[in-house]
Amino acid sequence: MILKNSRVKKALPYLTVVFFLFSMLMVWSFFTLNQSSYFHQLNIRHFKYTDELNSLISVPNKLLQTNQNVNIADVRSAIINIRQQPIECLANINQSERIIMRWVGTESIVDICKNDIVMANKTLNFIEVYEAGNITKEVLQGQLVEALKAFRKNSIDFEAPVEKTLSSIASMTIGLIILSSFCVICFAIYLSRAVSIVLTKREEAMIALAKSETLNKEMAYTDSLTGLPNRNLLQGTIDKSIAKAVRGRSQFAVMFIDLDQFKDINDTLGHTVGDQLLIEMANRISHTLRDNDTIVRFGGDEFVAVTDNFDSIETIDPIAHRIIDAVNVPIQLGEREVLITASIGIACYPHNGSDTTSLLKHADAAMYQAKNAGKNQFQPYDQQSASKQNRKLNLANLLHSAIANNELSLVYQPVVRLSDGCTVGSEALLRWTTASGEKIGPDEFIPIAEHSGQIIEIGDWVIEQACLQCKAWHKDGAVDHIMAINVSSQQLKDTSFAKRLADTIRSYDLPAKCVHIEITENIAITEDQTCIATLHELANLGTKLLLDDFGTGYSCLSYLKDLPFDVLKIDKSFMPANNTIASTIIAMGHELNMEIIAEGIERPECYRYLKNLDCHYGQGYLFQKPVPANEFDIFKQFKNHESDPSLCY
Ligand code: C2E
Ligand code: MG
Ligand code: MG
Repeated sequence: MILKNSRVKKALPYLTVVFFLFSMLMVWSFFTLNQSSYFHQLNIRHFKYTDELNSLISVPNKLLQTNQNVNIADVRSAIINIRQQPIECLANINQSERIIMRWVGTESIVDICKNDIVMANKTLNFIEVYEAGNITKEVLQGQLVEALKAFRKNSIDFEAPVEKTLSSIASMTIGLIILSSFCVICFAIYLSRAVSIVLTKREEAMIALAKSETLNKEMAYTDSLTGLPNRNLLQGTIDKSIAKAVRGRSQFAVMFIDLDQFKDINDTLGHTVGDQLLIEMANRISHTLRDNDTIVRFGGDEFVAVTDNFDSIETIDPIAHRIIDAVNVPIQLGEREVLITASIGIACYPHNGSDTTSLLKHADAAMYQAKNAGKNQFQPYDQQSASKQNRKLNLANLLHSAIANNELSLVYQPVVRLSDGCTVGSEALLRWTTASGEKIGPDEFIPIAEHSGQIIEIGDWVIEQACLQCKAWHKDGAVDHIMAINVSSQQLKDTSFAKRLADTIRSYDLPAKCVHIEITENIAITEDQTCIATLHELANLGTKLLLDDFGTGYSCLSYLKDLPFDVLKIDKSFMPANNTIASTIIAMGHELNMEIIAEGIERPECYRYLKNLDCHYGQGYLFQKPVPANEFDIFKQFKNHESDPSLCY
């Protein structure tokens, strides 16, 4: 039987009412029993006064013996005493007793009492009549004898119904006692069972609660995927290591481990495979460590190892090597074999941080240094590189509000036709002056914007501004002025980029051929299918594509054939000319029927040299440094540069 707490609560009032009723009945029974025994006492007194009457009138025929002086007053008093008993009896019979008498069949008590009173009254009347001298002594004697007989008979007759009533009430009381005891016992059993069930349930609930609390605690400190401790345990672990290192004047290392290609695998092969990989890597890494080292899954593909305390810093390198080697073993994921690498940043206590937060922060910064240095390696924390990293983070933060705060601007550098020195176009170059007035060069902030993804928004802004300016110059009369816009490979990865560019060109009513897109030579543009598709979309728009900084990067010449580039821009690092690389590139451009622009022309002899090699266009400080639009002369023709030293900056 399962009792619920609420059932006990519901039953309690009923049980209390039943118990109360039984108690009342018992009290009433005792009271009635007591009353009935009082009737018995009255009868005894009745007997006694009847005897008294008997002794007054019958020793023998006392009253009739005239010489005997019988006191009539005593006789009257005896009869009054006899009569008093049935009077009291009747006065004490209440409604409930009448019901009981009717129930047990002893109503004769009432009749006996009434007869007794009638007889007593009649006899008292005779005495009065006798005293008045209206009847003789013999008549009175006769009446007294008759009354005595009647009183005796009544006493005897009274005994039996009183006994019967008494025993009935007694048995009823016993019955009630038994019944209420039974009720009390049942109630007690019911209550104790209910209480014990409630207590058992409460105990079970407490045990379950304690168990779940323990489980929760374990779960709070365990990573459910790999089974390793999670980052919640890290603080305590490092704190303990610090305390141990302080006591033993020793050191320990915090290693921030990040899997290099995890995101790609997760994206391409799916999360289940990603999870499988993480479990395997967690296993491998933890097997390379000793029992006293701790490894936790920090989150995603990041793990943190806290080494046992050591005396010599040389201990760290072999551990880091072991982790890198363990990760760097091919893993079979379904049907594919995957090779993954790890980058590790190391911060040592006490040299690289005196508390958990700074140790973790520095290990993390060192891990980024390892990634930037080419991944698949470890880097100890280095203050200088960390500050560089910090600056990058700061700049990335500031860059968020740069457009809204009007901190970005464009400057323009003329593109000059080398054959006649005419300005045929300009290259739009981005400038950033922060709110504090610091000028940040694009070489520094463009990679940051590329990394944070902000390049998309910034790039769109550049295109908008450059097209707006180009249109303004067209309106000013330079109708064929070409605007060259630098575009990052991250922008090419955006599938809607070409459409947005087309919309902007159209919105300014510019001929597409007047917009040149400069893309820096980069491995991404040859390997990323979205980039390649965007390049073709751009070519189809009618915009010309320029391969910027040619010769510095990936330089796989075969893709020149496959990708729709129209113009090669020789990187400024190959100037000053007479450089064989510049001349080779120009010759190759001619072979491939591509136009050539040389950038970084600073000296007249360089101009002469390039012109002699039939390089089509040039840019450089010799002609003009990048300037704001209002300082730009769209009709400028650079002539006599050979003899005009003012052109050489
Ligand atoms: P880039 O596209 O190769 O631009 C040429 C860079 O050479 C410019 O530097 C320019 O000021 C500089 N330069 C021009 N003539 C000379 C010269 O005679 N001597 C020397 N030493 N330098 C010269 P800047 O403006 O600092 O831009 C650096 C790079 O930043 C650009 O190289 C380009 O890759 C990138 N960049 C600039 N603006 C943008 C932009 O709006 N979007 C993107 N994605 N990249 C941009
Ligand atoms: Mg450029
Ligand atoms: Mg360039």
